[in-house]
Amino acid sequence: MATATAIPTGLRERLIAVVGRDHVRTDEGALVTFSTDATPLERGRPDAVVFAATAEEVASVLRLANASGIPVVPRGSGTNLSAGTVPHRGGIVLVLTRMNKVKEISDSDLVAVCEPGVRTIELSQAAAAKGLLYPPDPGSQTTATIGGNVAECAGGLRALKYGVTRDYVLGVEAVLPTGEIIRSGGRLVKDVAGYDLRRLLCGSEGTLAVMTELTLRLVPAPEASGYGMAYFPELADAARAVSRVLASGVLPVTLEFLDQVCIGAVEDYAKIGLDTSAGALLIFGQDGNAAVIARDLERMGQACRTEGAISLRIAESPEEASEVLEARRAALPSLSRLEPLTLLEDATVPRSRIAEMVEYIQEVARRYELKIGTFGHAGDGNLHPTAVLDHADEDAVRRARAAFDEIFARALELDGTITGEHGIGIVKLRYLERQLGADHMALLRRIKAAFDPNGILNPGKLGS
Ligand SMILES: Cc1cc2nc3c(=O)[nH]c(=O)nc-3n(C[C@H](O)[C@H](O)[C@H](O)COP(=O)(O)OP(=O)(O)OC[C@H]3O[C@@H](n4cnc5c(N)ncnc54)[C@H](O)[C@@H]3O)c2cc1C
Repeated sequence: MATATAIPTGLRERLIAVVGRDHVRTDEGALVTFSTDATPLERGRPDAVVFAATAEEVASVLRLANASGIPVVPRGSGTNLSAGTVPHRGGIVLVLTRMNKVKEISDSDLVAVCEPGVRTIELSQAAAAKGLLYPPDPGSQTTATIGGNVAECAGGLRALKYGVTRDYVLGVEAVLPTGEIIRSGGRLVKDVAGYDLRRLLCGSEGTLAVMTELTLRLVPAPEASGYGMAYFPELADAARAVSRVLASGVLPVTLEFLDQVCIGAVEDYAKIGLDTSAGALLIFGQDGNAAVIARDLERMGQACRTEGAISLRIAESPEEASEVLEARRAALPSLSRLEPLTLLEDATVPRSRIAEMVEYIQEVARRYELKIGTFGHAGDGNLHPTAVLDHADEDAVRRARAAFDEIFARALELDGTITGEHGIGIVKLRYLERQLGADHMALLRRIKAAFDPNGILNPGKLGS
């Protein structure tokens, strides 16, 4: 293989001695492939790509890199949307996808033990085969890995009822940048020995340690699920319906919305008979036994009617339920096909401020002459304003960046956050101090230094 790398030959040979010749790539193809992730407009060329298969191999790679002061960027499937795996300072991209075993599904302890490179869908399927549910379900679940999910604290469509990835991480085995292997937590529901490092590692975006084994909480799978949808004249009506649903004693498994731009884009693409004249669409769902589902769908439908729903549909069969969910699943692909470049963001606000935030996004889109559709998890205030534009149009890219600056500033004014689930990475770094403040940032840096004294692990991300 041709070598085009700044990694010294001696170090390259030592890496090969650790993982084998086939698993150290310095050829042009690999360096280009691993220079990007799912984040548009960000890239950085690595010097080597290393595929480790065990915690011991990870530890040896980190010890070598640490001794040479070479950056290491841990990577699962590279689906993150904050440039968390872009090696913008060069160095080694350490890929964990060879560590892809589900080691155990325990129906007595209600846990799964798996390696970090297991894809989310594989874990869900392994749990389902034993009548159990692993609830976090990011839209990328067919591709993304559990390691990446934990490192980003991924959310998903079921987060309102079941919580996000952090709520399912019971134990972590991780390798420190200096090469020591540690364990935090395990398969116990209760365990308060020491600082809660597994929580700290959850959402640490590959900046503190490389996770090599995860023990995850499972729950009994619900018997069934049911879904419905309601159209509203204005987004504000749908937002009020969200509050009314939550005040009605129902905790839905799904409560998602699409604005008018998204409804139009989905109908144009999927042709599923959506009402494109409506101002907003709310999709709601519940799981459990048949009686609970029927009762809660009725209550949610009533809440929508009270807040002025134009029309309401409750799915009568699994096929109809699938059609209802298709409207939400198709939102991102439908918007993405409108223009070559899709900028998907995740500004998040308290549920009570959703209407205000979406109206502000629409006003910003008009002012900057951009097409921005907003869909998202209405039940937890997690909005995905998505701008579609032509990346060759430099002025449009500049306007989009300025528009998102304003959108994030507004989210903070409304007591929200600059990211609900996609993480900071490189792309949100310039907003982070605005949200956390200087003292908080300084503490993050001290924590980073305690884990990674030479600053080799994913440097320049998440405030490090
Ligand atoms: C179409 C699409 C839909 C999406 N939907 C959702 C969604 O619904 N909810 C959501 O939350 N996100 C979503 N995402 C974002 C993304 O899929 C998640 O952030 C996911 O968790 C990333 O997993 P990954 O395996 O691709 O990780 P990567 O992108 O490879 O890595 C993500 C971060 O984790 C670090 N990392 C990876 N593995 C390890 C490890 N073993 N130890 C330490 N650090 C590690 C990396 O350094 C990086 O900082 C979506 C993305 C796309 C493209």
